[in-house]
Amino acid sequence: MKKSGAIYKALLISAKSPKKLKIYNPGFLVISPEGIIENISKKDPRKKLKNYSFHDYSGFLICPGFIDTHNHLSQYSFAGLEGQELLTWLKTYAFPEEKKFKDQKIAQIAAQNFFQELIRNGTTTTLTYITTHKIATDIAFQQAQKSKIRAIIGKVMMDQNSPRFLIEKTAQSLKDSLELIDKWHNKDGRLFYALTPRFAITCSRKLMQDIGKIAQEKNVYVQTHLSENHQEIQITQKLFPQYKSYTDIYYQTGLLCPRTILAHCIHLTSTEIQLIKKTQSKIAHCPTSNRFLMSGIMPFRKYQNLNLQMSLGTDVAGGYSLSMLNEMREAIENSKTVILFQGKKNIPPMTITEAFYLATLGGAKNLSLQSQIGSLEKGKQADFLITDPISIDPMRDKSPYQNPIQLLSKLIYRGNNSVIKEVYIKGEKIMIYKKHQSLLRNPHFSAKSS
Ligand SMILES: [Zn+2]
Repeated sequence: MKKSGAIYKALLISAKSPKKLKIYNPGFLVISPEGIIENISKKDPRKKLKNYSFHDYSGFLICPGFIDTHNHLSQYSFAGLEGQELLTWLKTYAFPEEKKFKDQKIAQIAAQNFFQELIRNGTTTTLTYITTHKIATDIAFQQAQKSKIRAIIGKVMMDQNSPRFLIEKTAQSLKDSLELIDKWHNKDGRLFYALTPRFAITCSRKLMQDIGKIAQEKNVYVQTHLSENHQEIQITQKLFPQYKSYTDIYYQTGLLCPRTILAHCIHLTSTEIQLIKKTQSKIAHCPTSNRFLMSGIMPFRKYQNLNLQMSLGTDVAGGYSLSMLNEMREAIENSKTVILFQGKKNIPPMTITEAFYLATLGGAKNLSLQSQIGSLEKGKQADFLITDPISIDPMRDKSPYQNPIQLLSKLIYRGNNSVIKEVYIKGEKIMIYKKHQSLLRNPHFSAKSS
């Protein structure tokens, strides 16, 4: 059957910049049969587009799909277990869990659940770490492809200071990554590869140098962690005394480029900030994780004033939630905390508009995909969400607080995955599991009977 175009009527909200939203109340979003935004306006286009299907979502809010620029698929099963500081937490939870991904069945079920859950939370694009296992990474790509999410995925690389059950030989780590790049990078226009050195502690200089070269040659992404925790920084500096700073290690080994996404970046010095700016590397701000693991609070306003390019990442399971709505409110609240504790009352905290920008267009920019996704604009691919902020309020549509900004604010502060009613990627409604159908159970994770 030939696909037809579609028209959606709703309150439409999209970010133009960190300071500006574009609002149509109500607006008409016109999607071409190919899944491209053909038009967006306040004018009803139905007379001109008689063969397009019409969907009246009056009372609902349509916004771009969320973009999560930092998370770990293999860690989702233990999200929310008590927070400890980073290095202890890695040893207690992350590494033993990652070991299980040697088992293909576990890798498959975890990947299937993870992408379903991202979509259910309104995330249409994700930047994701797997484990050091090549097969588990391949399986994750297969599941991402099945789910139709946009995903940039990477096999974790670790060739030193790692548990014996995860450590790799340098040459093998590079070979596996290259094979995965050839198989998956730029597949279907929605799957991409990210070279994924975990962080400097677990990577030799040779590994990082070779990753830098491959990133240039193959034009793929690089994702890693930077300056998250004080103890991590101290150990890193001891391991690499020849470099001026943590960031300098990545800079000198060639890891920093415009396609590099650096998670956390909490404790940077001004010289390190300059290196990030100079190389046009990007920052994935992970406020939930930064507090949960007591790593610190990233100085958002300082970085914003310095024009550093930032986006948001849930960092599951350093973060406890896959919801970008949660990440937006945590980002705003964290920015208030840093101001309160510095005693600098004249610094403005992050605004609703800024948080929404970071979760949508800011994310797209950090992934160099802003010409395709991130906002509701003519010519972009139609990744969008139908949300129901009115359902949050017991007064429903009788609430006096219903202007577009108030609805967006309520969505961010009071919303969870139940307000995400429908998810569209490239104009196609993505089926997510029905209300009473549970996620697949992994026998490995089920509770032991006593
Ligand atoms: Zn992380």
